[in-house]
Amino acid sequence: MIHHVTTEIAVIGAGVVGLAVAEALVAQGHEVVLIDPEPPGSGASYGNAGTIADYAVLPVGTPDVLKNLPSLLFDRNSPLAIRPGAMLSLAPWLSRFMLQSRRKTAERNARAIAELLSGARALWQDLALRSGGADLLQHNGCLYLYETEKAFRAAQADMAYRRGLGVAVDLIGPQDLAQLEPNLPDMAGAAYFSGAAFLSDPGAMMQCLAEAALNYAGFLNGRIDRLTRDFDGIWLEGPKCRVRAKKAILCAGAHSQPLAAMAGDKVPLETERGYHLEWQMPAPILNRPACPSARGFYLCPMTGRLRVAGTVELGGLTAPPSRHRLDRLLQGARKIFPDLPKPSARWMGFRPSLPDSLPVIGPSSGGADVIHAFGHGHIGVTLAPITGRIVADLVRGKQPEVDITPYLPTRF
Ligand SMILES: Cc1cc2nc3c(=O)[nH]c(=O)nc-3n(C[C@H](O)[C@H](O)[C@H](O)COP(=O)(O)OP(=O)(O)OC[C@H]3O[C@@H](n4cnc5c(N)ncnc54)[C@H](O)[C@@H]3O)c2cc1C
Repeated sequence: MIHHVTTEIAVIGAGVVGLAVAEALVAQGHEVVLIDPEPPGSGASYGNAGTIADYAVLPVGTPDVLKNLPSLLFDRNSPLAIRPGAMLSLAPWLSRFMLQSRRKTAERNARAIAELLSGARALWQDLALRSGGADLLQHNGCLYLYETEKAFRAAQADMAYRRGLGVAVDLIGPQDLAQLEPNLPDMAGAAYFSGAAFLSDPGAMMQCLAEAALNYAGFLNGRIDRLTRDFDGIWLEGPKCRVRAKKAILCAGAHSQPLAAMAGDKVPLETERGYHLEWQMPAPILNRPACPSARGFYLCPMTGRLRVAGTVELGGLTAPPSRHRLDRLLQGARKIFPDLPKPSARWMGFRPSLPDSLPVIGPSSGGADVIHAFGHGHIGVTLAPITGRIVADLVRGKQPEVDITPYLPTRF
């Protein structure tokens, strides 16, 4: 059976970005239908590390990463690896990524990320409160851990750079770290983002957002494969649905590229696949998320469990999860907590990633009746509320407070 729906605004994709966008539009009094073939919040937005990472101002592509790229990519065990067999299809994205990793370009990207991140914590506080999820937003800060003296020394420059972009961070030695996190093994030191927040259960927070948004918005369980325009609006079509809307907001995460092209924009969107493992753990082993920075994952205390989430695998949307990546994640976690038993859950998700680590936010080239809001990479949870606010301003015809020039689809 085909569902026929007519609405003022269709939001394609009900991940954290689509949910935050729908919430902001509904609050502005619009008629909204969210469309997704999966339950709301069950994609990348479910399995992430849950950090409201307003300190994550560095793009993935930096001169350091560029220098080490061959060894990183071709070492199957590195925190940033490429799936064997995906090299050819990824070559165009990788060459753009390399260009974006040059010093001046990377610094420009960092400034554009910092601009979006600057209000993230306060906006999340408001959103969590409005959605009934305030208890799931914790305020214990976050840690980057340095296992060697050399890495800790190198962190000085990294943190000085972040401070220059408005990030509040303290470098702390082993004794202060042991007081904060007595269960961690000895480390050379840590960077402590004491004001940072995190979600103690991203899946539960997604449920809160979905319930809040769906109090006022409709939900259509279907996939959109085709986007066309006529004189009076937009048609969105898929195997199970046909939707007529005045406006569409494209929030399909890593799956947004084909629909963006139909709206008029050729966007170099790829996915950085990430993984998580979980252990049931009624008493938390940590008080806050901690990232052993050389290992590329977070150890996250979540409600009733420990989640270890992260690593980057460039590998496309269709290949099955890599057993090797999961094994490496487990080995890495056991380097920190050697007694971890067999994990109780394993997961892979798709970060939606552009070569410059910036999201695509703004009107489509084919017209302002389609607004793009995808490609948030490593910080999509953090940036969802600001994205919702920008989209709501654009729909209203108001100039967003943030200058959106760096995020426009026409930048490629
Ligand atoms: C391991 C890992 C750890 C992470 N940790 C953090 C973190 O600590 N902090 C942080 O801020 N971010 C983190 N991220 C990134 C964050 O999870 C993502 O950036 C964010 O979830 C992207 O949200 P989204 O709504 O764009 O995408 P998604 O959550 O993937 O949602 C997209 C939705 O679109 C739907 N969809 C797809 N195609 C169609 C279609 N054709 N029609 C209709 N619907 C469609 C999908 O079913 C899906 O529900 C992490 C990611 C990973 C993988």
